[in-house]
Amino acid sequence: MARDNVLVMAPQVVMQRARGFVCVNAHPEGCFRNVERQVAEVRGDLPVPVAGPKNVLVLGSSTGYGLASRVAAAWGFGARTLGVFFERPPEDSRTGTAGWYNTVAFHRLATRDALYACSLNGDAFADEVKRAAAEIIRREMGPIDLCIYSLAAPRRTHPRTGVVHNATLKSIGAAYTNKTIDLSSRKVVEVTIPPATEREIADTVAVMGGEDWRMWAEMLLDEGLLAPGARTLAYSYIGPELTWPIYWHGTIGRAKEDLEKTAHQLDKLLATRLGGHAWISVNKAVVTQASAAIPVVPLYMSLLFRVLRRKQLDEDTAAQMRRLFFGALTAGKEVVTDKAGRIRLDDREMRPEVQAEVAALWPRVTTENLLEISDFSAFERAFRNLFGFEVEGVDYSQPTETDLHW
Ligand code: NAD
Repeated sequence: MARDNVLVMAPQVVMQRARGFVCVNAHPEGCFRNVERQVAEVRGDLPVPVAGPKNVLVLGSSTGYGLASRVAAAWGFGARTLGVFFERPPEDSRTGTAGWYNTVAFHRLATRDALYACSLNGDAFADEVKRAAAEIIRREMGPIDLCIYSLAAPRRTHPRTGVVHNATLKSIGAAYTNKTIDLSSRKVVEVTIPPATEREIADTVAVMGGEDWRMWAEMLLDEGLLAPGARTLAYSYIGPELTWPIYWHGTIGRAKEDLEKTAHQLDKLLATRLGGHAWISVNKAVVTQASAAIPVVPLYMSLLFRVLRRKQLDEDTAAQMRRLFFGALTAGKEVVTDKAGRIRLDDREMRPEVQAEVAALWPRVTTENLLEISDFSAFERAFRNLFGFEVEGVDYSQPTETDLHW
C-alpha cells in the first residue's frame, strides 16, 4: 500500500513480544484504551474544566507520571498542552513504542474534545529540542503557566560538553544485598549490587539531577515564555528504609537530592522574577517502565500494592495526578508542603501501619508464596498493560493498524 510514495503498513495482529521481562513491542489499541481510561478517571465527577493552569508544558509526557500529568492538565483544567518525550515511531513491520501510541491516543481524544495539543518527539536534553519547544510556545501557545518535569532517562548527552552520561542504579559506600524478583523467571532471589564509583554517582546526577530542569526553566524565563506566577514541578520518590540502600541513599537518591536543591534555587528565581514557584512532588511507587527496572523495588511494590489494596488506600498513576492537580495546582488553592518544602503524595504509602505490614511480609516472601502473599500478578499485569497488552476489551486476535501518527 502506498501513501504519498511512502510504504504504508497493513493492519497486523500484534502479539506481545518480550526480551526477558521487557516488552519490545506495543499494542496501539491497548494504549488507546489506557489513555481513554485515564481521561475518564481524571474527569470523574468534577465540574470540568476546573480553574487552573491553561498553558502547560510537560517534559516526559508520553508514559507514566508525565502522561498522567498531561491528561490531568488537559481534561481537568482544559489546558493547552505541549508534550516532549523520546519515543520510537512504527517502522516497517515493527510497532512504535507504547509512549508513541499513548501520544497518538492523546491527540485523538484531544481533537475529539477540542483541546489544543502539540507534541515534540526528541531528546529533551538537547538544545535544539528546547529551541523547537520555545518556537511552538511563542507561535502557538503563549507563555507557559505550568511546567512539569517528568523525565526518566537512562542517559544524557550533555549539550555543552558532548559527554554521554549513563545513569546507574547502585548503592553508595558498600555493596548491598537483598531480595528481589527475577522478573523473567518469577523467582525471589538474592541480589548483590556493587557500590557505585564516584564517576557513576556523578553521571547519575548528571542524568537524573536538576541541571536539565534548570536549563529548561532558564531558557523559558530568558525567552519571556513564562507567564506571571508560573510554576514548575519535578517528581521524586523517597520510599521506606527497606529500599533506601538502592534508592534514597543510592545513586538515584543523590540525583533526587540534586533535583531538590534545584527546586529551591528555581523557587527563588521564579519568585523574584515573576512571582512564581518551583516544587518537588514526592509521588507514590507505581508500575512504570522506569520503576520496574530498579532492583528490589518490584518485590517491594508487589507487597505494597497488596497491603494498600486491602486497606482500600491504593492509587494508580492517574489517581495520584488527580490528587496533585486538583488538590494543589487548582487556582486559588494553597500548596501544602512538608518541612523540606516538598509536596507529598506518598502519604498513604508511607503510613506507619502500611509500612509495618510490608516490613512483616518482607522476610517471609519466597518464590513459593510470592503469588499468595504479594500482588505480583497485579504487578505483572500492570507492567504488560503499560505496553497495551492484557487491556480489558481489546481483542488481540484481530489485526490492528500500527502505522499511526498524530
Ligand atoms: P516513565 O519511564 O514512565 O516515563 C519517562 C518519560 O521520559 C517518557 O515520556 C519518556 O519518553 C521520557 N524520556 C526519557 N528520556 C527522554 C529524553 N532524553 N528526552 C525526552 N523525553 C525522554 O517514568 P516515570 O516512572 O513516570 O518517571 C517520571 C518521574 O517520576 C521520574 O522523575 C521518577 O523518578 C518520578 N517518580 C516515579 C515513581 C514511580 O514509582 N514510577 C514514583 C515517584 C516519582
